[in-house]
Amino acid sequence: MKKLIIANWKLNPTTLKDAQKLAASISVKAKNKVVLCPPTIYLSNIQYPNIGAQDCFWADKGPHTGQTSPAQLKDLGVKYCIVGHSEKRETGDTDEMVNGKVKACLAQKITPVLCVGFGTTVEQDDLEVTDVLKKQLNVNLAGVDASQVVVAYEPVWAISKGNPYLTRAADAEHAEKMAIFIKTRYKAGKVIYGASVNVNNAKGFLSQPNIDGILPGGVSLIAKDFNQIINM
Ligand code: PEP
Repeated sequence: MKKLIIANWKLNPTTLKDAQKLAASISVKAKNKVVLCPPTIYLSNIQYPNIGAQDCFWADKGPHTGQTSPAQLKDLGVKYCIVGHSEKRETGDTDEMVNGKVKACLAQKITPVLCVGFGTTVEQDDLEVTDVLKKQLNVNLAGVDASQVVVAYEPVWAISKGNPYLTRAADAEHAEKMAIFIKTRYKAGKVIYGASVNVNNAKGFLSQPNIDGILPGGVSLIAKDFNQIINM
């Protein structure tokens, strides 16, 4: 069974030429399903079978300076869109805003990749983590058919600042428990794990029965390592 691997390039690279070079170096015949999420400004100039966006707005058009709508993303052939990433929540996205983004993506038949795990800490036990997730998911998925959503469990404390070999990922067993919780309680279509995934730990996440894939950040910029991961 193919797993879903969604590459979050974040604010990288700094030129279109380098972005195209990176995309061209990622295998299109990988064992798993791969989605590349380059910065919005490059979306129309990147060739890859599955392209995703890193964020969107909740309205399709209107007086919203600087925003990008799911309708516009759809027009470019974008199939997935990350919403609720901790780096967006940190800069002001509320649970209600994230809910609006999830709904707006679904209305355009774009699969939302809903990130949860902002506010968790490394000291919390599983029960405390599920309390944080409940608070987010109850609002983020309100009025939504969750079977159409990919939920990405991203414990914020484990997210790398760019180098996933210098930070510690969560345990695969813990991530598996959170995936079971999210599927059982919210009936999410898929649950994937993100935060400090690298060549050494990816297989551990991909081999969990309830983890449907991964969301690599920093390592998705290292073509050699990423190509290895997508073929695990
Ligand atoms: C992320 O922030 O979505 C992420 C997974 O980052 P990293 O892999 O670099 O921890």
